[in-house]
Amino acid sequence: MNLIIFGPPGAGKGTQAKKISEYFNIPNISTGDMLREVVKKGTSFGRKAEKYISKGNLVPDELVIKILKKRIKRKDCNKGFILDGFPRNIKQQKYLSSLLEEIEKPIEQVINLIVTDEEIKKRLLGRRVCSECKKNFNIYQSNSDEKIDKCPVCGGKLMIRGDDNIETVKNRLNVYSEQTKPVIEHYYKKNFVIEIDGENSPEGVFKDIKNILEDIFDKDQICC
Ligand code: ADP
Ligand code: ZN
Repeated sequence: MNLIIFGPPGAGKGTQAKKISEYFNIPNISTGDMLREVVKKGTSFGRKAEKYISKGNLVPDELVIKILKKRIKRKDCNKGFILDGFPRNIKQQKYLSSLLEEIEKPIEQVINLIVTDEEIKKRLLGRRVCSECKKNFNIYQSNSDEKIDKCPVCGGKLMIRGDDNIETVKNRLNVYSEQTKPVIEHYYKKNFVIEIDGENSPEGVFKDIKNILEDIFDKDQICC
């Protein structure tokens, strides 16, 4: 079960990738999460990456490819994986195709989350991330009028991601249209793409994804 999940920034890729990873028991490979870990470590590599991330630009391909390659070659990817945030441009897509061919793990399905620009802006500017359990929440989607000030799941401190400000969000949307959309087009041409309405609740979106994946992949393959 070798999957990629696409969608504009804030479409819910991270949330859905986590759910898919847990339900189907395959590792979740998020280049965004891995890069943020590197930034946190404060190495020279991390400081370099941070300059790009804070502006909403893509981190140079060589850096991301290095991280990705190391991760995808780990043993746990033998049963499958879900890629979130990679490939983000045509160069990365070409690199991924040849790498996966070499290690004999071809991409089987590509999930494309469809969400309008309007909704995206609202979500990104209201997004908070729990510093403890790393779950995402949105202050605009909370059911009560009360503003949530700590993680509803574990009580951890809620943080605003450094790249969730209006300027950076605009740039991330541009980068997505110019560089990532052509990659998705490539997978459409290959007939690999499952389109999912990303404007439902996180649970509703996951249900749609799960139903389709269970139809496509035979159940024995999924559970073992
Ligand atoms: P989002 O999809 O919501 O923008 P991500 O967590 O996937 O968030 O990515 C955050 C940032 O990390 C991107 O704006 C970019 O700077 C960097 N990044 C993540 N994946 C890649 C990649 N494959 N290539 C280059 N930069 C990346
Ligand atoms: Zn939490």
